[in-house]
Amino acid sequence: MFEVGSVKTAQCPECDGLVTVDRRAKLGDSLECPECGTMLEVISLHPLELDYALDYEDWEEEWEEEDWEEEDWDEE
Ligand SMILES: [Zn+2]
Repeated sequence: MFEVGSVKTAQCPECDGLVTVDRRAKLGDSLECPECGTMLEVISLHPLELDYALDYEDWEEEWEEEDWEEEDWDEE
């Protein structure tokens, strides 16, 4: 099954501008809005929807908390 064209468009949640997305994009793919530069993530394919990408700095903080739990294990 073929679709016409190689890209789809979705609306940026930040500036409401149209963002072109490769039609082979998968859920969770990240891309940058060409209008406002916001990092976006594909949250839905049918219909194609974008949302703000995860903040990776928050991820690092969660990892540090897990390290603390591992230290508690060593004490027992
Ligand atoms: Zn935007």
